[in-house]
Amino acid sequence: MTDPPSGPTSAGPPGGFLPGADRSRLPDPGDLALPVTGAKLLTGADGQLLRVADLPADTDWVPLGTLDGVPAWGTDLTTAVDGLPGRARGWASLAAEVPEPHATLAGRALAVLTWRRTHRWCGACRAELTDQPGETARRCPDCGLYVPMQLSAAVLVAITRPGPPGHADELLLVRHATGPTGLWALVAGFVEAGETLEAAVHREVGEEVGLPVERLAYFGSQPWAISGPGVLLAGFTARAADPRAEPVVDGRELTSARWFGLDALPAQLPPAYSISRWLIDATVTAARR
Ligand SMILES: [Zn+2]
Repeated sequence: MTDPPSGPTSAGPPGGFLPGADRSRLPDPGDLALPVTGAKLLTGADGQLLRVADLPADTDWVPLGTLDGVPAWGTDLTTAVDGLPGRARGWASLAAEVPEPHATLAGRALAVLTWRRTHRWCGACRAELTDQPGETARRCPDCGLYVPMQLSAAVLVAITRPGPPGHADELLLVRHATGPTGLWALVAGFVEAGETLEAAVHREVGEEVGLPVERLAYFGSQPWAISGPGVLLAGFTARAADPRAEPVVDGRELTSARWFGLDALPAQLPPAYSISRWLIDATVTAARR
């Protein structure tokens, strides 16, 4: 039995990106600009981030934080995209190309702008919400309702078991019924209200593949802009409690689940910028030690 794999090397402060909501200073022309149109971001033609000077002077900017000390601003272009520079692209294609702090900032831009678009009115009294200075939050001027941007926690887990005698440990991978159906992924799911991250892992594994797991260990986390605004993924490792038990899929969320030797993983694994892949790679590395 090897030690659980250690978490992503970026587990400390993400290099250079700091979220923020500082409106005390106006945008400079050289500040970073992240216009959002629907579920996509507008970048330069070369994939580089735009600058505030690239957009019209009357653009309504929302503070996002800083990247390497440079303030970054988002704006919602849902109603006006004609004649603007660059091209609109989804987070996945951007994250596959740019350094992780850029991808994290881009994900925050999508999350914050989507949240603002869908949290415009007070849910209690229907008045128009106003921005809360210095926070990613809004407040109702009539009834005082406080509306912070909320996160949705989700868990994913790399489950291993001993391989046959003389063979490498095995990793459980699953295929989903929706999304990228050809991908071999990890068991994952959203955390329910009132549930710990650990309880969510046990429940999801039980629901999706019918296996009990043990030796649950926290691995690391990643903001994840593909599954909706404000999703935070928490990764775990675990061992199958019964090394002979085979997974049983529900046929609804998952189409298949099977054990793979860590020295014979399939080629269709999650992308390199995902915590799923970091977990899988770290599990392989830990098994070699
Ligand atoms: Zn209200």
